[in-house]
Amino acid sequence: LKWTSDKGWHDGLVGPRRPFQIDPAAAVLHYGQEIFEGMKAYQTQNGGVVLFRPEANAKRFGRSAERLAMPVLPTELFIEAIEELVRLDHEWIPTSEGASLYLRPFLFATEAFLGVRPSREFTFCVLASPVGPYFSGGQKPITVWVSKDYIRAASGGTGAAKCGGNYAAGLLAQAQAYDHGCDQVVFLDAVERRWIEELGGMNVFFVTKDGKLMTPPLSGTILEGITRDSILKLAAEQGLTVQETPYSYEQWKLDAASGVLTEAFACGTAAVIVPIGVVRDAAGEFTIGNGAAGPVTETLYHRLVNIQRGVEADTHEWLHKIEIL
Ligand code: PMP
Repeated sequence: LKWTSDKGWHDGLVGPRRPFQIDPAAAVLHYGQEIFEGMKAYQTQNGGVVLFRPEANAKRFGRSAERLAMPVLPTELFIEAIEELVRLDHEWIPTSEGASLYLRPFLFATEAFLGVRPSREFTFCVLASPVGPYFSGGQKPITVWVSKDYIRAASGGTGAAKCGGNYAAGLLAQAQAYDHGCDQVVFLDAVERRWIEELGGMNVFFVTKDGKLMTPPLSGTILEGITRDSILKLAAEQGLTVQETPYSYEQWKLDAASGVLTEAFACGTAAVIVPIGVVRDAAGEFTIGNGAAGPVTETLYHRLVNIQRGVEADTHEWLHKIEIL
């Protein structure tokens, strides 16, 4: 689907994947004017095909577009494009637990113009691919690397937008995490390098002994995760005390050592919920609880997966059914 300043959205088509033609002067290649989303289509246990909260993805895509000076694709068009693709590819949606059809909508600047100003031409595209669990160990606890060298986003920047540039800026920190035997990087805030923000591609939660669930607040520098929002709602229903509150890396260490903090987990569309077992930085490491998945993490994971697969009642109306014609 294309967008130009004179015609608006036009020339949509769905078909087999094939390479694009792109001008070497296209603005995206020089100034990174690009945004994307990550979402999944699931097979429910009764054979239906559903999306999980696609309106939330469409709205976040719109907010990212505004921040990156791009045109906003109306929610109905965004969902219609996804639906058409899923209908065409529905035979590729895996049925096993943890597997799904991953969907990657993205919008990028195609105008051939080297001046630094917003492009006047864009292409919107959605890729689909069957996926299994995000981490090879399934729901096995991950080890995370706390980056002291690099930050992901600063106040006034693009941290709350899902734009390619954020990920480009985080790649070196992610590579360091891998070099230190870790699965993911944890970013701290840009000002004090003290407050925990989020992981390279996931939000983060902490569970205390007395049943409190904490997550960093939406300060404008972290992504407003749809999984994060769903967990906040499910946890409150379960009777947990839910707090969106700043939490420092120093306090995390102290609370893990004293046993006040019993669990920590990361969450996002790709991995759903994954326990954090070990936290490592340049000075050393510590273990959360006994290093295994805790009961709160397990319960929230199963509730979320069961809602997505139509096993548990969808009381929040999060599932968007796709009629396969
Ligand atoms: N933070 C970052 C940086 C991410 O890339 C993602 C994945 N989209 C998330 C958080 C989790 O967001 P969601 O639950 O909407 O997938």
